[in-house]
Amino acid sequence: MTPSQDIDALKASFADFLKRKKYRSTQERFLVLDRIAELDRHFSADELYIHMNSRGDRISRATIYSTLDLLTQCSILMKHRFHGESATFELSSRMPNHDHLICVECGRILEFREEGIDSIRDAVCSQLGFRPVTHSLQIFATCHDPLTCEYNKQD
Ligand SMILES: [Zn+2]
Ligand SMILES: [Zn+2]
Repeated sequence: MTPSQDIDALKASFADFLKRKKYRSTQERFLVLDRIAELDRHFSADELYIHMNSRGDRISRATIYSTLDLLTQCSILMKHRFHGESATFELSSRMPNHDHLICVECGRILEFREEGIDSIRDAVCSQLGFRPVTHSLQIFATCHDPLTCEYNKQD
């Protein structure tokens, strides 16, 4: 789980962003951020909506979409597009510099850290005269046997 001091720091930086951009600082927007920290994984806007509903939060899909957009603008959230699915989000602070492997059979998303990829990123930047900031790599693969895949059976 995300430590509680992290969520306070995220809230402070979100409040700062809203103020700078002159957006309204509503309780609902901060509640969305709380629930995201609670989930502590990748999620789509719909999954977050379902999670918030199950917690008894009264919030519209439109508010969730607009808040996710704001949280992405200020880099608190990272937005991924995996294989043409609807956007997937996660907190940027959860697991810095990780990459993703996506199973094209069952849609499972695995996270991994591989330092060799960082070296390639740095080498490419230095060859082209750039300073690396971050990178995002997606590997698309299939599980060994989709029929017996634990994850596939859950649906
Ligand atoms: Zn699979
Ligand atoms: Zn991830």
